Amino acid sequence: MVQIPYRRELEFDYGRVAELAPGIRRVIANNPSPFTFHGTGTYILGTGKVAVIDPGPDDEAHIAAILKALDGEDVSHILVTHTHMDHSPGCRPLQAKTGAPTYAYGPHGAGKMEQGVQVEEGGDMDFAPDHLVKHGDVIEGSDWTVECVYTPGHTSNHVCFALREQKALFTGDHVMGWSTSIISPPDGDMAAYMHSLELLLERDDAVYWPTHGPSIIDPKTHVRAYIEHRLEREEQILDCIDKGTHRIRDMVPLMYRDTPEFMYPAAARSVLAAMENLVRKGKVSMDGDALSMDSAYRLA
Ligand SMILES: [Zn+2]
Repeated sequence: MVQIPYRRELEFDYGRVAELAPGIRRVIANNPSPFTFHGTGTYILGTGKVAVIDPGPDDEAHIAAILKALDGEDVSHILVTHTHMDHSPGCRPLQAKTGAPTYAYGPHGAGKMEQGVQVEEGGDMDFAPDHLVKHGDVIEGSDWTVECVYTPGHTSNHVCFALREQKALFTGDHVMGWSTSIISPPDGDMAAYMHSLELLLERDDAVYWPTHGPSIIDPKTHVRAYIEHRLEREEQILDCIDKGTHRIRDMVPLMYRDTPEFMYPAAARSVLAAMENLVRKGKVSMDGDALSMDSAYRLA
């Protein structure tokens, strides 16, 4: 099994701003969970007229902490990596206080709606960005420059933001140091995710700052391990089917022996995402037409 070089050490206080590098500050929201690690890390880029990346949940104390960190400074841009509930709902109260416009790829499901796929599960359905960003767009601030890197997979509207001045990539939930990313269909898409990982290998970022947990200081090693890990999961699925386990619910305990049972539903979503990719590649087929959690899968 490939070893992902996890990084989990993080010193911080909730609500207190930390200066991480020149022009990069972070305030962590008090919303820890098995999905958010210590909580949502909201980044502040630049000085004087700043960009805020992912204001987090709609949490009064967290928004107040961001504003307190910015005493005397203005927010000129609010950048959103994606529309999960721990990332984008804080845009509304922050916008109400600052008037700053929001920048994102699109509303929840935007990347799938373009392909005619209906996406209704999960997500912050109320969010609609003021400005749509596309891959390669460059946003100029007062003393910062951000390039948008479209990275669908975790969600279909996921974008990473590259701060050129520091060769730093803000990876949202696409690549994290503390954990792998959850890919949950229909909005989550494993084929898109793998492509978005490959995309990062073509780049020259010096450091990643994910929304949850500490920085990643050896980005390409980490991304390669992430890719290897997903390919191993595919092999595990093929092996399960080969040995007579045909349903996802029966595969999960075999594939996730080190994972606590309360995480099995999330793991099952990731297996479904991998299965969808295997079906697309023609390696697996299922009884009936529908790809679902309850289908019986066979080697094609
Ligand atoms: Zn997310």
